[in-house]
Amino acid sequence: MTWRLANALATLRAQVNSKWPNRSEQSDGTIGDEAHASRSSDHNPWVKDGAIGIVTGMDLTHDPIGGFDSYAFADMMLKNQDKRLKYIISNGRIGSGPAGPSAGKWRKYTGINKHDHHCHISVMPEQAQYDNSSSWDIAAVTSPNPEVVVAYVVPLETLRKGSKGEIVEKLQGRLNVHGASLRIDGDFGDITRAAVIVFQSDSKLPVDGVVGPLTWRVLS
Ligand SMILES: [Zn+2]
Repeated sequence: MTWRLANALATLRAQVNSKWPNRSEQSDGTIGDEAHASRSSDHNPWVKDGAIGIVTGMDLTHDPIGGFDSYAFADMMLKNQDKRLKYIISNGRIGSGPAGPSAGKWRKYTGINKHDHHCHISVMPEQAQYDNSSSWDIAAVTSPNPEVVVAYVVPLETLRKGSKGEIVEKLQGRLNVHGASLRIDGDFGDITRAAVIVFQSDSKLPVDGVVGPLTWRVLS
């Protein structure tokens, strides 16, 4: 299916990239990433512009080491209450934009993915909002406090079919600890993928055969 990212989110991502050019994009996502592929969310292009599906949700990687503190960023986004914001999820909390419930206030987020390795931003489904590409006000984001930086553990690289190397050996070793019997060859092929799927299914994770931050966490 033909899809594109909402212009409002493309603008926001470009602003973030230019303000924090060294930030990691490891846990960034728009369409069909690990934690969202198997359920309905704004990452699925359910909003339509004619025949084109619009992705109205986006994830930005929490990377305090690279200068981008997604927790502080989410606080600022919630406070600003830009009309385009539908909701934002960060570090176990969800908050809505002006049109949502309890606008501007954090509520507890109870989804399986706490969103501590990225924040999720959804924009409103009306085109006047999601394609409004004027600049967002992101001036007020504070730089990460040194304690946050020191305490932060970088999530392991996302692995999928075709991945190779030592990190795949580590993955195969962890899968074997959890009941698989893989040859440790550092090559993520069909057999490794099948073992990942079994593990995800047994662990009640989204089943997609891709090893992202959430699957790594449960494996480790
Ligand atoms: Zn997301």
